[in-house]
Parts: sequence; structure tokens; C-alpha cells
Amino acid sequence: MVPDLLDTMIGAAVSAIRDNADALTALDQAIGDGDHGINMKRGFTAIESEREAVAAVALPQALQKIGMILVMKVGGAAGPLYGSYFMAVGKALPLGPVTAAGVAEALTAGALAVQQRGKSAPGEKTMLDVLVPVADAMRAVAQANISTTELLNAVCVAAENGLESTRDMLATKGRASYLGERSIGHLDPGAQSSRILVECICEVVAAALATAKTEDV
Ligand code: ADP
Ligand code: MG
Repeated sequence: MVPDLLDTMIGAAVSAIRDNADALTALDQAIGDGDHGINMKRGFTAIESEREAVAAVALPQALQKIGMILVMKVGGAAGPLYGSYFMAVGKALPLGPVTAAGVAEALTAGALAVQQRGKSAPGEKTMLDVLVPVADAMRAVAQANISTTELLNAVCVAAENGLESTRDMLATKGRASYLGERSIGHLDPGAQSSRILVECICEVVAAALATAKTEDV
């Protein structure tokens, strides 16, 4: 990947997490212990401080570095889970040019790593309710003959629908599960942070494509 694009993605992800930290914390106040925004902001601020080193290496290694920073800095349940996710995505990403099929394979490996680490599955009101549909959508669109814009749109829709699906779910994993039935009616904070990250990466790719097209003319 063009190093500049990775650098832009990191910058956009850091801003998105920072801008949404209070909203993430508010969601976690409703069904957890009110620290998800704080945890995520700490992790992404640490990524920002290592931005140059991260953006200087090839994408698979950069994603693994990001995963390690998140494990060390985020803490709570989300730290090891997001850490496992990014490390597995980086490890599974094929070397060479980034392709839709390669990204689909990597996102699938990431979602699987979270399931193994969290001993969890989709439908339990967690980040997996976004990460699994996103990987599924990516696999489906990677095989379809559609434009990158349509592909990005399908992935964002999967993330948004996945997030919304957590509202009516009963939490059976993580702190929210302590609330039992009272967890129903709230969005899951980890699903929201995952949706924010997916949407932000899609926006960066879409903007880069638009710029590339303008430059072609
Ligand atoms: P903590 O719950 O330790 O306070 P955070 O508030 O940072 O950590 O993260 C909570 C989020 O982590 C939840 O909203 C949920 O999405 C995710 N999560 C918690 N436990 C699991 C699990 N076992 N599998 C997948 N995701 C989980
Ligand atoms: Mg919490």
C-alpha cells in the first residue's frame, strides 16, 4: 500500500476515535463501566505517537504493530480483543498488492481471532456483531463484479446494520452480560467503535479513489 494512504488511515482513525470517545463512554456507561471511550482514546493516541514507525513498514507488519500497541495500551476487555484482531488481520493479509479477496481473507481471520480470544460468537452483543458481518460482506463483494465504491458501500452498510442489531440483543459476554435483560435496548459500545473504524477506513479509501480519478483526468 502507498505509505501515505496508511498514514492517512491512521490519522483518520485516531481522529474518529477521539471525536467519538465521549459517545463511546456514554454507551459503556449504560451497559458497562463507562470506560470504553477512554480506553480506545488511550490506545489510538499511542498509535498516533508511533505513527511514523507504523506507516513506514509494509501493511501486514503495520497492522501487527497496531495490534500490539492496542494490547498494551487499551486495557479492559477491548484491548486484547482489538489487539488480537489487528494482529490476525496483519498476519493473514497476503503480501503484495492489496486485493479485495486478500482483505476479505484477512478480515475473516481477524473476526475468528476475536471469537477465539473472547470465547464469543456473533449474536452476543459485542464487537463481533460488526466484525463478523463486515468480514462476510467483504467476502461476498470480493467475488462480485462490482466497483470499489459499491464494495465500500456494502461493507459500511454491513457495519451499520451489525451495530443496530446489537440494540435488541441480550448481552451474554463481557460486563454488559451482568445486566441480563437490562442490557436490551442499548447499542453495544465495542460494536460502535468497530463501526466507527470500519466507516472511517472506507471513507479514506473512497477519498483516495476520488483523488486518483481526478488526477487521471
Ligand atoms: P471492559 O468491558 O473491560 O470495560 P471496554 O469497555 O473497553 O472493556 O470494552 C467493552 C467492549 O468489549 C464491549 O462493548 C464488547 O463489544 C467487547 N467485548 C467484551 N467482552 C467480549 C468478548 N468476550 N468477545 C467479544 N467482544 C467482547
Ligand atoms: Mg468498559
